[in-house]
Amino acid sequence: MADVDTDTLLRWLRTFAASVAAQKDTLTALDAAIGDADHGANMDRGMAAVVDALAATPPADPAALFKQAGMTLVKSVGGASGPLYGTFFLRMAPATGGAATLDPETFAKALRAGVEGVVARGKAEPGDKTMYDALAPALDALDGALSSGESLADALRAASAAADEGRDATTPVVARKGRASYLGERSAGHQDPGATSAALLVAAAATAVAE
Ligand code: ADP
Ligand code: MG
Ligand code: MG
Repeated sequence: MADVDTDTLLRWLRTFAASVAAQKDTLTALDAAIGDADHGANMDRGMAAVVDALAATPPADPAALFKQAGMTLVKSVGGASGPLYGTFFLRMAPATGGAATLDPETFAKALRAGVEGVVARGKAEPGDKTMYDALAPALDALDGALSSGESLADALRAASAAADEGRDATTPVVARKGRASYLGERSAGHQDPGATSAALLVAAAATAVAE
């Protein structure tokens, strides 16, 4: 089974940047309903900066790539999503152990470390209507598929389907974190913008690894 190398990870982040750019208006419309209408712009600006930074300074290994991506997001995106996605990538870096390629279990462990960073930073719990509601089921599906012997590509496809379900499940929920929580009951009936971009992140990983 092919391990994940730096080129695959570059493809992941470029694919994510491209989907965020393509979905910019959708992400903004979702944030207009329950936030401040900047999630599309925030993510597009941040991921475009990440793609530029990685092209200007090609990373030597996965840890360097994650560190650069994380620092760029923290620097270039204000608001909740910059520090949260930034922390996600910054926490992935040490979990690679400095390896040049990541076997599927190490990649899954690094993703989990990243999501634990998001939780440490934002204190989200399941069902709070945040990006965590897409990321947590994705990790569980990924681990489950890998431990039943599926390839990383298949396991990431399962993770992506779980992220989409988690994203959809945010719609009826009342938000308990972030700006949407200021709306109280009025936040129900709207899909969470951050869960929507997080599902794109997982889908991009599945695409990059399948290529
Ligand atoms: P802001 O709300 O500062 O304008 P964005 O619009 O870019 O930032 O991002 C909003 C998204 O961030 C929300 O849809 C939600 O998914 C996510 N989010 C907000 N607060 C938290 C938190 N404490 N933990 C996890 N995710 C959060
Ligand atoms: Mg916003
Ligand atoms: Mg904002």
